[in-house]
Amino acid sequence: MVTLEKTPVSQTAPQTTSSIDVFNPVTGQSIGSIPITTAEQVRQAAEKARAAQPAWEVRGVKERAALLRAWADLLWADQKNAIDIIRRETGKTELGAWEEVAVIDTTVGYYHKYAAGMLRPQSRRTMVLGRQTARVYYKPHGVAGFITPWNYPLNNAFIDLIPALIAGNTVLQKPSEITPFTAIYAVELMYKVGIPRDVIQVLTGGGATGAALVDVVDYISFTGSTATGKKIAVRAAERLIPCSLELGGKDPMIVLNDADIDLAAAETIVGAAGENTGQVCISTERVYVEDGIYDRYIERLKHYASQLKIGTDGNVGSLTNARELQRSEAQVQDAVAKGAQLIYGGKRRPELGPLFYEPAILTNVNHTMDVMREETFGPIIPVMRVKDAAEAVRLANDSEYGLSASILTKDLKRGEQLATQIQSGDVHINTTHWIFGTPDLPMGGVKNSGLGRRGGPEGLLRFVKTQSVLVDNLWFQKPTLVRIDGLLYRGALLMRKVRRAFPFLPL
Ligand code: NAD
Repeated sequence: MVTLEKTPVSQTAPQTTSSIDVFNPVTGQSIGSIPITTAEQVRQAAEKARAAQPAWEVRGVKERAALLRAWADLLWADQKNAIDIIRRETGKTELGAWEEVAVIDTTVGYYHKYAAGMLRPQSRRTMVLGRQTARVYYKPHGVAGFITPWNYPLNNAFIDLIPALIAGNTVLQKPSEITPFTAIYAVELMYKVGIPRDVIQVLTGGGATGAALVDVVDYISFTGSTATGKKIAVRAAERLIPCSLELGGKDPMIVLNDADIDLAAAETIVGAAGENTGQVCISTERVYVEDGIYDRYIERLKHYASQLKIGTDGNVGSLTNARELQRSEAQVQDAVAKGAQLIYGGKRRPELGPLFYEPAILTNVNHTMDVMREETFGPIIPVMRVKDAAEAVRLANDSEYGLSASILTKDLKRGEQLATQIQSGDVHINTTHWIFGTPDLPMGGVKNSGLGRRGGPEGLLRFVKTQSVLVDNLWFQKPTLVRIDGLLYRGALLMRKVRRAFPFLPL
């Protein structure tokens, strides 16, 4: 049995060897190793991807989307294997792993259906109707790189590259060195349905491999910590390539006086602890509860916490990464040292495995504590009493992050109005996390939570560059030495009059 202290070393140690061991967090045992792809090998992979791109682009959106659909169908049919691999390297519950397969399937379904329409050339308005027409064309960037984290090894590794492939890019994917086998497995399924090997390649390794990838691609999509994301943004700026950054969060939940108390308490548990043991970028990490409901809410929160079954066959699985166990414990200790009360949980469960940890409920917290300011990646629930909704919104916005948020209220209209006052990329009313699983909605952060959006048309259009084509239709056009000839001049004056007189016309 590998000890707890030994497990995390491989996850953070400097890369002095040519391979990295991968561990099952539940048993602490090694489940294999991956080669570290060198910078030179990354460059060679990019050359192959660049050579394969024109033929991939020529195949057209519909054909590419059909291949991705076939891949998702195969993944769906093979979900038992997919779930096994995900669970072996993350320690999550069976339903938690199934959810990853389901989100990928839904995402493929969405882009399979709508991508062709979104990428169709668009007509645009011109100064003089008729004489000129204009169209916008969408063209892939070329080779797109993806660097992804360990918390959702299927979801986060593929959710962005699906639209990138459909848009006609070829892809280099660098999965987390902590959970690389899911990506390797899923890309093998892509080859099985006929996606050419050079169109998508997996490059295993750690941070150095990721850094080498940023140096060779035409677009970089990164999901991971804010600290790494900033380094990638700097390098992308130096190379002047577009990037998207899905980074960390510190998501607030606001429970208003009129909330359904049981729903609010149960959603808090799911949002902060139940979903992937709190190892979610959009997990609930701070709860602000209005005074009038506070005491009853705390009582119900403890009640629901006590119903949780901890274990990979229960509702709260293992933590995946020992670093996150240490970070969670340190935040609880810091809060208690500064006056917080640990009213539930917060203990390791070594009899279940080295990284199991009971959800911890903290009260009497404030914004001087790390647990209210720094990202938490574990099942910690700090709850703060507030006098009203305005104070809750002010505190929710008092953060360097702005990824997701949630509001619990029976007044849906007021909830939606309050949502727009919160500085975040998305807000859920009476639920959490559903931005994943709603592929038509753009998802992403503001402030230190990132740049760019995945999902929806926005999530597809970031993988193309626009090209505008303006055509003069040769209506009475004669050679002239000035840009505005007489006909254009009169046409422009007429168009101005018409536009001013009939502003409702789509001219
Ligand atoms: P991380 O930043 O440590 O690593 C992410 C990836 O970046 C890994 O593949 C890693 O090998 C690679 N990497 C590390 N250093 C690099 C460098 N210098 N250059 C290029 N690549 C490098 O993050 P993590 O611990 O794997 O993931 C947890 C973090 O991810 C949390 O902060 C979480 O909030 C965030 N996250 C965000 C989202 C989102 O959608 N916003 C989703 C999941 C996770």
